[in-house]
This record gives sequence, C-alpha cells and structure tokens, in this order.
Amino acid sequence: TENVEIDNVIIGSGYGGAVAALRLAEAGHEVTILEMGLNWEKSGEKFSPMISPGKSAAWLRTKTIAPFFNIFNTKKYTGTLDRWDFSNIKIWMGRGVGGGSLVNGGMAVLPKKDYFREIFPELNAEDFYGKYFPLAEKELEVNSADENFLENCSFYKFNKVGEQEAHKAGFKTVRVPNVYDFKYMEAEYENKVPRSALAGEVIYGNNYGKKSLDKTYLKKAQETGKVQIHDLHRVESITKGSDNTYILEVIQTNTVGEIIAKKKIVCKKLFLCAGTMGTLELLLKSSNDNKLTLNSEVGQNWGNNGNFMTGRNFVKTFSGGTGVNHSTIPVGGIDNWNDKEHPFFTEIAPLPMGMDVATSLYLMISPVPKKGTVFFNPISGKIDLKWSENNVALARKNAEYFIKTMNKANGGTRAHLLFNNGFGADICYHPLGGAVLGKATDKAGRLLGSEHLYIIDGSLIPGTIGVNPFLTITALAEYCIEHIISEDY
Ligand code: FAD
Repeated sequence: TENVEIDNVIIGSGYGGAVAALRLAEAGHEVTILEMGLNWEKSGEKFSPMISPGKSAAWLRTKTIAPFFNIFNTKKYTGTLDRWDFSNIKIWMGRGVGGGSLVNGGMAVLPKKDYFREIFPELNAEDFYGKYFPLAEKELEVNSADENFLENCSFYKFNKVGEQEAHKAGFKTVRVPNVYDFKYMEAEYENKVPRSALAGEVIYGNNYGKKSLDKTYLKKAQETGKVQIHDLHRVESITKGSDNTYILEVIQTNTVGEIIAKKKIVCKKLFLCAGTMGTLELLLKSSNDNKLTLNSEVGQNWGNNGNFMTGRNFVKTFSGGTGVNHSTIPVGGIDNWNDKEHPFFTEIAPLPMGMDVATSLYLMISPVPKKGTVFFNPISGKIDLKWSENNVALARKNAEYFIKTMNKANGGTRAHLLFNNGFGADICYHPLGGAVLGKATDKAGRLLGSEHLYIIDGSLIPGTIGVNPFLTITALAEYCIEHIISEDY
C-alpha cells in the first residue's frame, strides 16, 4: 500500500466534481480528483453506437445493459454505462472522466422557478435564476437547435411527429436546449464532418459534437495546472483520522477491473461528488465499517425524479411512422406540469434503431410525493433501497393518462414491444437525494456534524426537480463551492 497526503480530494468527476475542481483551482488550491472510470480521451479508445456496442458499452459486464434490446454480448471492460438493480427499480449511471455527461442525452433543462422554490425553500431563487443557472449554462456551452434545421432534417422526423401528435392531443410542447453543439450537427447532416449524434452515438458515449464535462469544466480545470485527475481509482471507504483528516482506502484497477494497486490517501478537505448512489454508498458503508459519523438525514428523501419510461407502438395511422434515422439528441419536450391532476414533463425521446419502428419513446418526469430511503445492508455489503409500487403511483397514473390521451387523438398502442405491459416504471436515469441540502447538509453542502466533508452532487436534491437534473446539479455546485471557498479557506 502506498501512502499519500493531499489537501483537497474530490471523489468523482461528474457535474459536482467538475465544478468544484475548476473553482477551487481558480482560487489557487491544488486539487486531486479520484475517478473510478476511465479517462477516455487519454486512453485513445473510441465510443460505440447503440446498435454495435464495443468497449464503451458497459461497466465490467459481458452483456449490454441498456434499457432495452440487450441482445449483444460485450467484452468485460471499464465501459461508460453502469446499472445498479434494486427491487422495483434499476438505476443507470455514467462511469469515466466526465461521469454522467459521457452517457446522457445532453438535455439542459431549467427547472420551473416555482417548483425550485418549493424544493429549496432555504435558497434564494432570484440568485439562482439571475446568476447560478446562467453561469452553468454558459460553462456547459448550452445551445438550441435552429428551427429551420429541425424542420428539414430527416433525423428529426421522430420529434416533429412527436410534437404534432402532442398538439393534436391538446398538450403543450417546448424546445429543449442541449450541450450537443447543433452547429456541429448541421455539419454532420451535410456530411462535412464525422457523424456522432446522427450515427447513433449517445448512451455509450459520443465521439464528436457533445460538450461533455471533459470538454468544458474539466478541461478548463486542468488548464489551470492545479488539478490532477487519477482515473481508474475507486475509493472503497472513508475513515475519520484523529487529526481531523480523512483517510481514504483507494484501489487502482486496469481496464478489465483487476486491482493493480492499493493506496491510502489522507486529505484535509474531502468533496464527495460520486453521484447520488456513489456518494450514499461511500457514506453509509463507511459509517457501518469505519464508524464514520453521519447525521440521521443521510439516506432519507431519496427519489427517482419521477422517472417513468413509456412509449407507443404503431405510430403510423396518421403520421406515417417516426422515420428511419433518428438523431440521438432530444430537442422536444411536452410540458404538462401545471395540470393539477396530471403534472408531468416528458422528453420526446429518439429510438435510433436504424429502421422505422413506428414507435415513440417518452422519458416522463412527475413529482415524487412519496420518497424512498437508502440504507446499508451489512449482509450484502452494499446499499439497498426502500422503494415500492407506491412510490411510483403518481407517475404511473400520469403515464396511463398521457398514453391514453395520445392514442385517442392519434392512434397507436401502448409500447408492448419495448416494455412489459408497455410501461417502464422501474427505469431510472435520475437518482436524486439522500444527502439533501438544508437537511443532511447545511446551505452550502457541508455535511452536518462533520467538518470539512462536503457533498456536491445529485444527492443534494430531494428526490425530484421536475426536469432533467444536470443543469440544476451544476448550478447548485457553483453556489456551494462559491460559499465553501470564501468561508472555509
Ligand atoms: P455523476 O455525473 O454520476 O458523476 C459521479 C462520478 O463519480 C462518476 O464518474 C462515477 O464513476 C464516480 N464515482 C462513483 N463512485 C466512485 C468511487 N467510489 N470512487 C471514485 N469515483 C466514483 N440529465 C440531464 O439533465 N439531461 C439529460 O439529457 C440526461 N440524460 C441521461 C441519460 C442517461 C442514460 C443517464 C444515465 C442519465 C441522464 N441524465 C440526464 C442524468 C445526469 O447524467 C445525472 O443526473 C448527472 O450525471 C449526475 O451528476 P452528479 O455530479 O451527481 O454525478
């Protein structure tokens, strides 16, 4: 075992970790990021499209783990997409330098201001909408597609049909900004540059076009010369040292997951940015194994952001199918949030199968009136989740209403070809909460009852934010780290 002493350690290189690293470095502090996934850029490996999965497809699996059509075998490799299965819910996560930004759809959605106020009563919403959200949008390089391009691009027929059908059923649609560079996509369409979004790449990584965190925050952070990123370094546990330090047990692996070194890293300030599930596992496991002191709010107020995947087959009757080619980058949403009885937001999602499957796919987001709990299971040595059909009752009611209303106006059936009974109630891309801001932490993400232990990731959000969450996670991270730098250094 190698022993190392460092001032500032960040665990995880997703949104929270990337923001914290850049701002700490700009303020003159040396930072080390420990990331269990691969640094793809440095490795020189390519990302693979959904219909021909390669090394990037799955985290140390021999079969693909996408939400559907897992008919492919893969070689065990430290791929970009991971999935943790619990009873009643499966949770997908990104792995690698850039975290979830490597695998996600890039949708950068501003939450509704009223809902943000309701979710975070202790925060000043004016500050967020005037400062932290615009800052996050700028740094993440959020942009919107040109309407003419969308109108004429055959790869967006699925969206056009989706919007027309929604209007016919009486729903309101909205344009959704993204971190994929739409100018690049226009050049792809004209065959001037290599294709990525138009070549089926997204959930196993994009080779071009997408401004994932390695191209934005993390790039800037490394340019300061003060940030070191150690990839393939997984933190196994945290122990509180006698001199107010934190001692991390770390393993370094190769790309097939074998341990090649064990390290003990001692740090003064520790930033937990391992994503909701990663952060909760580290905290709860370390509390069980090493008596790390936690407050009773850790593990409470967990939610799936109301995620509910559904779809419609035989989208043909009126609209003539959804098109052969789909861009992997969503641009449209249906906003029904203000309907008191059926409040939801849904993404009109692509299904890039390379043929016209005449199927519409929707990732719906509903409020989460009933939260779940995350706890440590000493028998399995892993975290577990209290989550049942009850927790998704509102999301299911909304999905039933939505699909019924769409089919009545447009024809089509529930997507039995995609999901059992046509509903993917157990599909979660947006695990949130468990270390909620203002409950488990103070207003700036300091874990209550612990000194110099900071939480900056999706676990700060109490299980729901009403839209796709990374823009909110980024804005919260900007806010927290600003306070931490000015008050704790
Ligand atoms: P993450 O981005 O999850 O980063 C955590 C990092 O920590 C990871 O890189 C992980 O490997 C690392 N880590 C974990 N444990 C350890 C450990 N013990 N030691 C070392 N490193 C560790 N959101 C949107 O807003 N818009 C979208 O379009 C969208 N699409 C999505 C599509 C998919 C398929 C998925 C899975 C998610 C999508 N999301 C989307 C959700 C979004 O990606 C996440 O909410 C976001 O990435 C969470 O950010 P984070 O900072 O909390 O953690």
